[in-house]
Amino acid sequence: MIFDFLFNVHHCNHDKVDPALDLEYCPDCGELIENQWFITRCACCGVKHKSIVRNGKVVPVDNFCHNCGSNEYTVERLPQINFFDVNFAVVIKKVFCSKNKESYTQCWTDAKQESDIQVLLPQSL
Ligand SMILES: [Zn+2]
Ligand SMILES: [Zn+2]
Repeated sequence: MIFDFLFNVHHCNHDKVDPALDLEYCPDCGELIENQWFITRCACCGVKHKSIVRNGKVVPVDNFCHNCGSNEYTVERLPQINFFDVNFAVVIKKVFCSKNKESYTQCWTDAKQESDIQVLLPQSL
């Protein structure tokens, strides 16, 4: 599994970084960490889904929309977290400016391809 390999190489989860802040230095590894918040929405009716990160991808907790039964969804990045999205959103702690050339960056395609947004090379869970 490629993900196992990546996680073994990059093992700091930046757990001490406060997700309420936009940017903070991780006290464990010294990297500047950017908190990126994402939510998922039903592609059919637009209702918000509670979101989790699975295999490095932001996905809805539920397989099907509770409102319309669709299994299509879109992923949106939130410019900042607010109190009414916090129950739905998931945070990804991304190294903002890496000092370590061997660390990985996470690449998001801004262009939405139908309802499918790709996540390449997740750097941590
Ligand atoms: Zn760290
Ligand atoms: Zn729906």
